[in-house]
Amino acid sequence: MSVTSITMAIKPSAAARAQKKSITLLGATGTIGQNTLKIIASQPERFELAAITGGSNVTLLAQQAREFNVRRAVIADASLYNSLKDALSGTGIEVAAGEEAVLDAAAMPSDIVMSAIVGAAGLKPTLAAIRTGATVALANKECLVCAGPLMNKEVRRHNATLIPVDSEHSGIFQLFDPEYPERVDSVTITASGGPFRSWTTEQMKSVTPEQAVKHPNWTMGAKISVDSATLMNKGLELIEAFYLFPLKQEQLNVLIHPQSIIHCLVTMIDGSVLSQMSLPDMCTPIACALAWPDRIFAPVQKLDLAAIGSLQFETPDMVRFPGLRLAREALIAGGNAPTVLNAANEIAVHRFLKGGIGFLDIAKLVEKTLEKIDNHTLETIEDVLACDSQARRYAETA
Ligand code: NAD
Ligand code: MG
Repeated sequence: MSVTSITMAIKPSAAARAQKKSITLLGATGTIGQNTLKIIASQPERFELAAITGGSNVTLLAQQAREFNVRRAVIADASLYNSLKDALSGTGIEVAAGEEAVLDAAAMPSDIVMSAIVGAAGLKPTLAAIRTGATVALANKECLVCAGPLMNKEVRRHNATLIPVDSEHSGIFQLFDPEYPERVDSVTITASGGPFRSWTTEQMKSVTPEQAVKHPNWTMGAKISVDSATLMNKGLELIEAFYLFPLKQEQLNVLIHPQSIIHCLVTMIDGSVLSQMSLPDMCTPIACALAWPDRIFAPVQKLDLAAIGSLQFETPDMVRFPGLRLAREALIAGGNAPTVLNAANEIAVHRFLKGGIGFLDIAKLVEKTLEKIDNHTLETIEDVLACDSQARRYAETA
């Protein structure tokens, strides 16, 4: 059983509610980053943006920095320092660039750090925030997949708090009382099934990157969109759930639900099933995480079940979607397997998006990398980073 990092926060006092929360936003230029800014912009009396970071989109980062009058703006690509400096000249906003500068921003004191960098690149910044004892709103699932046990250890050591942003995990967080895990029989996370839910393996052979990034329900970054199409995203989420909540892997299930209205189901030992529902709009889980344990308005449409009419459910097909099987196997194997799975998947998705390999080759490459690298325990973050690099090197040319 995993050891949870989640703590149910107590009810906020009226004074605490009246105070503005400061936010550091890692990955501001991405989809989650932009949705986070939408929530912040909708209630400036509640939130102020302390620092933002972006990967390489200087134009958007500078525009966001000016609009929200942030204290510091950081671009991860060190070669873009001058461009960002020029774009923000005369504003008084501190400008920095490079990997170390992202870590410094992550460790700045603020009430909430939103971790929304994509991929294992988010691990070190998220850890930097955790090591200050921060409250981290966690969108970046890959960091938990590649270093779950060590991250949880750091969370406990530094008395930090993780609040899930991933929609399914936000749902579980809202329903599951970590004080009483014995009341829960099982937890189910739903998956839309992606754009190829009803395609045959033969049809999926010729899937193009353009088809794979077109998700039927959600608007997301390219990597997670491809992960949703292969169902690897749900596999990563199984592992994410295992590290966030005190559950055994066999208590975690996946259900295909094409409408993405129900995000999770928590089955209690008495047979009662609790579900969390909302329209597929990340503004809802982001608002939930930023306000927790309070509730705030989110600029989203109201859920109208009569208009939707019916909800469908299916069992996932592990043969047509081997990514989900591989993730489950990696979770059971433990040790470095989730780290290898994640790194190989990142490289495979990158190669697919560049046109270098086919859609079905993504899972094949992940499986080959898992077979190639011996399983062993990862004792330190340095071990995780070394294993991540080894798996990437192999998957780049295999
Ligand atoms: P995205 O590709 O739209 O944005 C990623 C952000 O990370 C950008 O700001 C980019 O500049 C930054 N970035 C990329 N590489 C970087 C690096 N090496 N160093 C520093 N910054 C870097 O991705 P997204 O869809 O916003 O997803 C972000 C994270 O949230 C992912 O881990 C994803 O799995 C998770 N998530 C996303 C959604 C969604 O609906 N988009 C839902 C649940 C979870
Ligand atoms: Mg999700």
